[in-house]
Amino acid sequence: MYVNFQTMARKFSLVAFIVVFSWLSAFALRRERLIDTWRPTHYNVSLTLNEQLTEITSAQADLDIVAVKNLSLVDMDFGEMTTDSVSLNNSPVTFLHRNGKLEITLPNPVGPGTKLHVTVTYHGKPRDGLILSADKDGKPSVVGDNWPDRVHHWIPSLDHPSAKATVTFNVTAPARDLVVANGQLNKVQTSDSGTKTWTYTETVPIPPYCMIIGVGDFAKLEPSGPMLTPLSYYVPHSDGSYALKGFAPADPVLRLLTQLVGPYPYEKLAMIIGATRFGGMENSSAIVFTTTLFNPKPDARLSTAFGIPTNVEDVVAHEIAHQWFGDSVTESTWSDLWLSEGFATYFAGLFILKYEGDDAFQSYMQRAAETAFTYEKKNRIPIHDRETEDLFKLLNGNNYQKGAWVLHMLRSRLGDDTFYRGIREYYKKHKDSTASTEDLHSALEKASGQSLQQFFSRWVYDAGHPQYDVSWKWLPKEGRVQVSMNQVQPGKAFLDPVPIVVTTSLGKRKFLITPEGKLAKQMFPLNERPAGIAIDPENTILKEVTVR
Ligand SMILES: [Zn+2]
Repeated sequence: MYVNFQTMARKFSLVAFIVVFSWLSAFALRRERLIDTWRPTHYNVSLTLNEQLTEITSAQADLDIVAVKNLSLVDMDFGEMTTDSVSLNNSPVTFLHRNGKLEITLPNPVGPGTKLHVTVTYHGKPRDGLILSADKDGKPSVVGDNWPDRVHHWIPSLDHPSAKATVTFNVTAPARDLVVANGQLNKVQTSDSGTKTWTYTETVPIPPYCMIIGVGDFAKLEPSGPMLTPLSYYVPHSDGSYALKGFAPADPVLRLLTQLVGPYPYEKLAMIIGATRFGGMENSSAIVFTTTLFNPKPDARLSTAFGIPTNVEDVVAHEIAHQWFGDSVTESTWSDLWLSEGFATYFAGLFILKYEGDDAFQSYMQRAAETAFTYEKKNRIPIHDRETEDLFKLLNGNNYQKGAWVLHMLRSRLGDDTFYRGIREYYKKHKDSTASTEDLHSALEKASGQSLQQFFSRWVYDAGHPQYDVSWKWLPKEGRVQVSMNQVQPGKAFLDPVPIVVTTSLGKRKFLITPEGKLAKQMFPLNERPAGIAIDPENTILKEVTVR
């Protein structure tokens, strides 16, 4: 998902922000829900909404699940809606619904590999996850917004990103409204009572936080011309005239990611404007963007390629990149979240590089560096973070911006050919499934034939960034320049080779400092007096530098 870190920084002192932020932080304590007893393989969710879209009048979730080991209890995550009945393989069973869990005791324990069918009927108004509220035009609307583990407020589930499954939604809503959901639209049935039932099926396993529906009086727009995948935009009517322009980067982003990574993983892509806590939320094949996305911003910087505010271009690219990274290749654990957010941030940057040019890309990465440093000043923790308890606090400068920089450094070090070959292999091996940091590590080692042990251990599993304190001395009689580079950051040294460029009246000379510890002293041949020394002028390393 997309968080506006610039806006967050600017508004930090505002009371309104603090209130919103503490509200964001109030839920979701860190818990790594293990998939060690059972796992879902398919959800078939039927929801009937009332006329004003303020309540789910009846719901039924049919889950195909499989026992992972000997199983006597199915413990589903389920919030506060009222459970009416539970059956197992079509026979009623007793259940206990309390404290966010729906516990179903099996009449007879089963062994690993046994497939079971659980049916839960329920009703009510979800406390969270499915947002029933007015859209920006004041019309009734319903939109799913589940990250990080809020889907269980409206669907009994195993609410962890790695518990991926396919899903079918059957949504019965007033005939005036449109319904969108993950996957392909199978059918729309009209009833005599003034409702329509919309059936969508996502045939590719997706993480539960990406399972959504959107219901409301949307304007539906479809861009013309051949598109990489069927594209449609569901927006409040007041955004109808701008949506085709505002979402214009969508097809180019889909094409770039297809070219760099692999085929688009889903049946279609819907872009929705509706209720989400985030700037954008990457639900598989049905992305939701914040209701203010297209509000006029008179002082906005405009994209040269699309003529829209650059922040709109950025969030569209970010959420679409997530379809590959996060949705298709899903983080195995919360500690691996950067495989979702760092990738989406970096691939949005690569889109900006292609469409807005190198200067725009450089400033995008520079802003990312500043956000990462700001976060690090208050939190000396690794990207691979096992500590942070509040999952919302994982939406931070480590997982987004520093994660993007890790990819940028790997691309700079390995070169485009090797980097993208490694990324494509990683994607191919883990698509429609999950991946860990070690999966990425090994894919890039395999592609490059070099050890990246030191790199991953220092950059991903340890905290901080290099702060180089550099001094130099020209020794004219010896025809050499001596460069001393001291790393003054707390913690261990970074052993990344550091390019330096020495400028003389004869031009520029490039050298490489190869630290073996915190202090590196190296001599380079140089017969001309240096006019200046630049440390990593092409910004291939996330760093701070002082040259004396
Ligand atoms: Zn994101």
